[in-house]
Amino acid sequence: MHELSIAQSLLDIVIDEAARHGVQSLKRVGVKVGAFSAVVPDSLRFCWDLIIEDTPAAGSELAIEEVPLRGRCHACGARIDMSDPVFECPECGSADMELTQGQELMVAYIETED
Ligand SMILES: [Zn+2]
Repeated sequence: MHELSIAQSLLDIVIDEAARHGVQSLKRVGVKVGAFSAVVPDSLRFCWDLIIEDTPAAGSELAIEEVPLRGRCHACGARIDMSDPVFECPECGSADMELTQGQELMVAYIETED
């Protein structure tokens, strides 16, 4: 289950951050998960709950923000919703496009108990 290793690396980042700021206990951890990152939010949340026991993140909630796929056309600058595979720019027909979001897998914020 690759969500387990992802949850583990997110947790490592969170614990580092918490230690740096002298935080004792965490309430909520926000993560951004891109549609292209092949992570299943439910299993990520499940794995999170498994591994946070006996860490400063124990009892915290993992708030997952799913980031949809979006792209941009280099030829005309159009922004494109790529939730369906798009091979040509709907505006100008160019195939010169880049993926601008949807590959994220990162900690967005950490909320502490206060
Ligand atoms: Zn275009």
